[in-house]
Amino acid sequence: MFGRSFRIARIRGIDIEIHPSWLAILALVAYTLSDGVFPDQYEGWSEATYWIGGTGAAVLLFVTVLVHELAHAIVAQRRGLPVPKITLFIFGGVSHLSRQPKSAGEEFAIAAAGPATSLVIAVVTAALWALFRDANEQAEAVAGYLATVNFLLAIFNILPGFPLDGGRVLRSIAWRRTKSFRRATRIAGSVGESMGYLMLIGGVLLLLSGFALNGLWLMFIGWFLLGAARAESQNMQLESILANLRARNVMREDFPSVAPGISIQEVVDRLMVGEGERAVVVANDGGVLGIITVNDVRKVPRDEWPNVPAQRVMTPRERVVTVPVDQPALEILHLLGERRLNQVPVLEEGRMVGLVTRRELLERVQLAESLAPDVPNLEDEPKPGVPPA
Ligand SMILES: [Zn+2]
Repeated sequence: MFGRSFRIARIRGIDIEIHPSWLAILALVAYTLSDGVFPDQYEGWSEATYWIGGTGAAVLLFVTVLVHELAHAIVAQRRGLPVPKITLFIFGGVSHLSRQPKSAGEEFAIAAAGPATSLVIAVVTAALWALFRDANEQAEAVAGYLATVNFLLAIFNILPGFPLDGGRVLRSIAWRRTKSFRRATRIAGSVGESMGYLMLIGGVLLLLSGFALNGLWLMFIGWFLLGAARAESQNMQLESILANLRARNVMREDFPSVAPGISIQEVVDRLMVGEGERAVVVANDGGVLGIITVNDVRKVPRDEWPNVPAQRVMTPRERVVTVPVDQPALEILHLLGERRLNQVPVLEEGRMVGLVTRRELLERVQLAESLAPDVPNLEDEPKPGVPPA
């Protein structure tokens, strides 16, 4: 949404990232607990105790959300599906799977692990709450809060809308029944969309009945779920458009290149501003030496451009991310997104033969969409004359 996530830890090879929006929520939770909830429920604590209790509960909430995500990730890993990172953001967390699950059973196990874990945490913290009752008010307050929130988290997450876990559980069930991942996604997508609309309407009704804050909150969640359901169906569209294309089909072979001694000024004047190129290959007779992008140029003060040779600013070849000529186009698009790249050189037998740019790849997708707005998926639909399994 706003700003970039940053890494705070690495667990079992998974990068744990935090989005700035999560820190804002954490601060808000700590404040609400310390200044409102705990003082309302428990009298006679010192000011410092309220704040220690409130902040402690907020941090523990963070830990339980992380455990929920780790549950998804560990089940995925056990099934041989690598998880590069987990991002914690405003609505909780996202485990980034490196590919879509291969079977309905796999998707079900990964999706269900999260809410099941939240439910277990709710039960354990509820038991602690009972244990601390009348013994230690602070521990009782924190355990009670964690039990309530984790119970709500489990419930919220099994709502059947993408990208909530319940949406994935629903898809895995539809997948098993229809034997088609794509149709299952469409079904889960439209259920999620309907749920988004219902929440929006419910929010408006609450708002009109005088429950302004709850109404706005419900509308916000509904709006978010609607967006997520649409994004998921767009992603499916993208997959069907790019399914049969490889690097060689989407690369440009006439990529711009310059000699290593050419000045930055000339690269900018002639190719970047002159031709609108965002990346220029640096090469000599022996082959490609590296690549200069708009970002590389930005790092050099403008008045030094005439005197700095391209070679000094470029990303050297060994550090440039490349793809083989038969790499599937969809994987390239994901790679560009994951590594935050605008282009990637294409290699054939160690020689650079082309350049795939994000802009051109997306232009092709738009073109394909305008040609056939709802690309049918032939391999998934039952063939005429063959009864569906
Ligand atoms: Zn989850």
